[in-house]
Amino acid sequence: MSVRSAKESVAVPPEIQSRLEAAGLRRTLATRAVLGLFLANPQGTLSHAQALASLTARGLGVNRVTLYRLLDRLAACGVLQRHADDGARTWRFGLADTGDGLAPRFECDACHRQFRLTEGSAPTQAVASDLFRTLAGLGHQGLRLDVAIHGTCASCVPDAATGPEPEPQP
Ligand SMILES: [Zn+2]
Repeated sequence: MSVRSAKESVAVPPEIQSRLEAAGLRRTLATRAVLGLFLANPQGTLSHAQALASLTARGLGVNRVTLYRLLDRLAACGVLQRHADDGARTWRFGLADTGDGLAPRFECDACHRQFRLTEGSAPTQAVASDLFRTLAGLGHQGLRLDVAIHGTCASCVPDAATGPEPEPQP
């Protein structure tokens, strides 16, 4: 077993560390390596196969079943978010929100990068508070609202030749 990957280890933010501890997840070499993949590219999402390939490329042989369980456990304890990838009929994983502000998430269906729309967070937060108040009035306890927009990012939009004119900048 190689220890070369130890020098690549990325610092685990305290919010993530506390979620791992709350879930009783031990920080094994595999856990740190998997977290490192996501922390190194916080906007990115990875399928199970891509995560496996990246780990293998780093010289870390992780059993594929172990990796499935690990990704599921990290999603269950709120460290990762799991999204259905409709096209490929698989799951994609990305870092979950750790801040307490609610920012809508935009995911490009072509390259699977995620963008946080932080400018939209104040009005979205107002909508969220309103929804939580409505739920509370009915006796329900809302905990989390995930706002996700799917589409095609600026880099993946096909050539604008057939598209609409870009909006004039003020
Ligand atoms: Zn894209």
